Amino acid sequence: MSETIFTKIINKEIPADILFEDDQVLAFKDINPQAPIHFLVIPKKPIATTNEIAPEDDAVVGYMHRVAAKLCADLGVAEQGFRTVMNCNPDGGQTVYHIHLHVLAGKPLGWPPY
Ligand code: 5GP
Repeated sequence: MSETIFTKIINKEIPADILFEDDQVLAFKDINPQAPIHFLVIPKKPIATTNEIAPEDDAVVGYMHRVAAKLCADLGVAEQGFRTVMNCNPDGGQTVYHIHLHVLAGKPLGWPPY
């Protein structure tokens, strides 16, 4: 898999507004927020799309959701609610081919998303 901008963020080669980091995941604010709160949770392992998630990745993908919920709790929006989205490939709207969980909150979000 070719390197994406998210690998550069993981390696601190380009800056990001980081909310959380450990050995498995990184969470940082989206550069082009679509809601008052919009951050991304990514695995440090580069996985291109949802289609490439392997059985050995199950734990980190679950952990990404738990980190999302913990950060929403820290930000005071967990009870009011938030949305997690993982776009996949062109029709899903994916532009960066390193899986990432969008976490959106801070206002009532519309549905359906088109
Ligand atoms: P996708 O369209 O792949 O689901 O989402 C990619 C997201 O990454 C977009 O919401 C976009 O704004 C965000 N993004 C792209 N490049 C950067 C960057 O360099 N820094 C940050 N913080 N976010 C980025």
